Order: sequence, then structure tokens, then C-alpha cells
Amino acid sequence: MSIIVQKFGGTSVADSEKILSAARKAVAAQKQGHQIVMVVSAMGKNTDMLVELARQINSSPPAREMDMLLSTGEQVSVALMAMAIDSLGSQAVSLTGAQIGIKTDSTHTKARILSISTDRLHGLLDAGKIVIAAGFQGIDEDFNITTLGRGGSDLTAVALAAVLSAEACEIYTDVDGVYTTDPRLLPEARKVLQISYDEMLELASLGAGVLHSRSVEFAKRYNVPIHVRHSFSDQTGTRVAADPETSSQAVGGAALTKNEALVTVKGVPDRPGTSLAIFSKIAQEHITVDMIIQNVGADGKANISFTVLGDDLATTRGAIERALAELGSGHIESSTGVAKISVVGLGMAEQTGVADRMFRTLASAGINILMITTSEIKISVLVDREQAQEALRTIHAAYELDKAPTTTVLSETERRRDSDALTVFTDLAGMEGLRVDRVLLDANQARITISQIPDKPGVAALVFEKVAAEGIFVDMIVQSYSGGGRADLSFTATRENLADSVRVAKQLATEMGCGEVTSGTEVAKLSVAGIGMRSHTGVAIRIFQALSTAGINIEMVNTSEVRVNIVVAGTCGEEGLQCLQDAFADVLVR
Ligand code: ASP
Ligand code: MG
Repeated sequence: MSIIVQKFGGTSVADSEKILSAARKAVAAQKQGHQIVMVVSAMGKNTDMLVELARQINSSPPAREMDMLLSTGEQVSVALMAMAIDSLGSQAVSLTGAQIGIKTDSTHTKARILSISTDRLHGLLDAGKIVIAAGFQGIDEDFNITTLGRGGSDLTAVALAAVLSAEACEIYTDVDGVYTTDPRLLPEARKVLQISYDEMLELASLGAGVLHSRSVEFAKRYNVPIHVRHSFSDQTGTRVAADPETSSQAVGGAALTKNEALVTVKGVPDRPGTSLAIFSKIAQEHITVDMIIQNVGADGKANISFTVLGDDLATTRGAIERALAELGSGHIESSTGVAKISVVGLGMAEQTGVADRMFRTLASAGINILMITTSEIKISVLVDREQAQEALRTIHAAYELDKAPTTTVLSETERRRDSDALTVFTDLAGMEGLRVDRVLLDANQARITISQIPDKPGVAALVFEKVAAEGIFVDMIVQSYSGGGRADLSFTATRENLADSVRVAKQLATEMGCGEVTSGTEVAKLSVAGIGMRSHTGVAIRIFQALSTAGINIEMVNTSEVRVNIVVAGTCGEEGLQCLQDAFADVLVR
């Protein structure tokens, strides 16, 4: 018999009436002939309340006791849900994470799932019971209760769906699906019928709160299709699956992260180990960094820029100060009042003209771009916060995100039933361990840098339109702000296109009064791709560490949820590949 997992979030079980309404959904699905597992969150704002209560008693409560406390929220909900089902005349049994056998590591308050036993679940389901599982919790080796991190009930639901080979994993929530952008920011945002795991991951990390990032990573790893839908409506919501809604559109969604701070570390030694020194100090503070740009150095010095959330700026500066003391040179500049706009799409890896459309759109709206980074499936720009809302609006329109695609994929993604994945990956670092699928070397790249471009609207648009007009396919683009109203713009293209790229760049540099055009004929791009690249902090650090030990200097870096790309000197390509393969040997799937 087919199994359906239904997860109800806090707002969907906020009071007794809502609990009964959720119970009715489960009973109805059971009547249609399915076995039902419900996963339930704590009622309403219960978890927040418990956190606040703990804080009143102890400003830094022991993590183990925090988990003991927070897990009670879900325990209340599952018991009430079981009573609700009973009142509707069906049979139910509630279970805590420990009772199910959700084994985790011992990282209290953000534990990772190691394994899940299914015997008890199958036994109860076969006996006709609706199983009600407490979300967000597990148990470690020593029988300590653990929790999976805030919002972790999504992960419980997807994990149960995976190990039970469920037919569907339905996430009931207070929105009716996933939108092309946050509808509270932009009323013309459109609900999509389907979105790919990779796009959803990028959007989740950019703040789309619909699904927990780790639940999407888990779903991708085990190929679990998720259906996000509204708790109080029967309408179809959004499917999250391997494929995007359509292959005809390059961009599937856009996001605005308002509260960013831009940090530039200037004049650091341009040699192996510099990035490592800086980013490992920041990682020690558990701060997530985005839009890392190391632009090619001059006079043996390099500038490294990146963004952090505004709230993390002070701590970040402190961490960098410590790194600079070790490095022996450099100083920090930072600015707040900036916002990041990103567009995400699986289709952009195959289409040309995606990035320059974004740049042209912003130029036409008179919006200046402070920084640019691109990865295979994401383009991010940093703009003035005052202009961010307008930037999002025009970009959303430029990619026609408000219009439903004429052709949709909506393929019923084949569920991998033989569960190959399950056996293979539980052998590694547990079900949620970092998994590297590929370490790649692209040895046929060249880098072109235009230094000192005027920091005003329209420059990037002009450059990449001219480059595109020559039929040159641009891979990585980075633009960093170099101060004094000037910025540096670098991109990579294939080596055959180097001469043409340099010619176009030189011509533009003269026209616009820029600085020098430099190029590296001999650059190589190294990539590490997999699952958990960012939720496992430290992946980038591991890369920096490995390259630094091998004495390889990093010229450019960019990161996404599924991949980290590094540009190094061409002569170091093979060696870099080898040392990254070694560095990730423990998690590399062969
Ligand atoms: N109750 C937990 C939280 O509020 C888990 C969840 O709702 O997903 O974070
Ligand atoms: Mg939630």
C-alpha cells in the first residue's frame, strides 16, 4: 500500500480547531486507501516561547537542556493530534523522535540525522494506524534528546518519506506554494507549479522561508518529491522535484536579501593561504559569507570582498582583524546600506544572454551595480538598499517571471524505489553527511580583467553586450568595488575566445576611461560539486586549506549551494584537481 507523509507546521496546528482540521485531512487520505504518517510541529509560536523562557533563566543555556526543553513543543502537538484522529473515529499513535528511532549525532540544537529505523513505523501502519511523528527531534547514541535546528520538522518529514519510500511528501503550511519571488515584496509574484531542488536550495538560502534548506538537500539526495501546499485549501501547491517548471525559461525565481553588509579586505598578501586565514577566522564565528570575490592582485597584494548579513558585521570585522595580524598587511573597509538581488535558474547554465539581460535591466532603471558574482545557476548583484525594491521589480519583469510558461515539464519524476541511495550514503557520514559528487577541472579557461571601471550604471551591461555580440560565451563574472568611484570587472571565457575578449575589453576600456586590461591566458577552473556544500560550513575552508598546503594561489572564487568554483593559474590545474580529490576523498562518491 502506498504511504503518504503529511507534515503540518506550527501555524497549521496553532489551536484545537486547526488540529482537528489537519486530522481530517489525514483521515480523508487514509480513507482513499493510503497509509498515513503525519509529522507535526510545535503549536503556533510555542518553540519561540520556550526559547524566550530559557533565556530569562540563563542567557546561555546548556545546549543539551535546550533540546530537552524544545522537544516538548512537538510532544504536545503529536499527543493532541492523536486525540483528534481518535475523535474522528480512526486509530492513531503518536511517537517521539526517540520512539521512532531517529538517530542523530550529538550536535545539540542542530543535530544531523544518521539513520532511521522503519520497523516500528511499518508495523503500526500495517496495523491500520495513522502514525503521528514529532517533528524536529531525534536521539543520539547516549539516548540524549536532540533537535535538528529551527524549522527542522520539514527535514523529519522528508527523511521519513525517504526511508519509507513514500509516494508523496506533503508539506502543509500557511502559504499556498513557492513563488517566483516573495509575494509580500512584489504582488505580481507568481506561484510556480514545480521548482527544481537546486533552485529551491538557492532560494531557501536567500531567505525564502517556505522550506528548510536541509530538507531540500535531503529530498535531492534521496529523490523525494515534495508537495508544498496550503493547510486550509485543497488546491495544488508547488512540487519540488528534480526538474524545473519549464526548460524554456532560464530563470525560475528571484530573491532580495535586504540587510547585507559589504566587506572589503584590502592590501592582503597575494599568496597561498590568505583566503584561508581570513575565512577560517570568520567560520569560527559561525558566520555565513556570500559573494566572495577575490580579484586578481597587483603589486603582490590582493583585495578580497564578500558580503555578510548586516547583523554579523561587527563580529566579522573582529575576526578579520585577527587574520590580518597574522598576515602582516591589509586593512578592512565595510559598508552597510546595501542589498543583494539574485536570480536563480537551472536553465541559465545552457542559455546565453542571461546575465547581460540583468545588467541591462538595471542600467535602464538607472541602478548602479556595486558587485557581481555568478555561478552556474545563480547571478547575484549588490545594489544600494534604497534601490533594491525597484531593482527586484524590474528584474522580475525582465525575465517575465509573472507569466506562466507556455510549456511546462511537470514530469512525474521517477522515484528511486530500489533505494540504492539509502544504502550507499548511510555508509558515509550518516544520511545528512556532506556528499561530493564531482571534483572537476576545466583547463580551457582564460581570465580577462578590466580594472578601474567607472562605478556607474550601465557599465557591466555594455561590456557583456559587446562580448555577447562577438559570440563569446562568458562563464564566471565577478565585479568588485575598488573604492574611489571605481570597480574591477573580471570574467572567464574559453581560451579560443581570449584574443577576441581582450580586444573588446581594450576597446571598451579606452572608450570608458578605465584602467588596464589584463588577462590570464593560463587559468584553470576547479569545481567541487555536491550536496551540503553550504549547510556543511567548512567546505570552502577545506578547499582553501588544501590549495594553500599545495602552495596554489587562488585568483577567483565563487560559491553556490551546490558548487564551489575556484580559478587558479593554469599550470596548477592538474595538481589542484589532485589535491582537491584527496581533500574530499572521504565524501567523494565514485
Ligand atoms: N518547532 C520547531 C521550530 O519552531 C520546528 C519546526 O517548526 O519545524 O523551529
Ligand atoms: Mg517551519
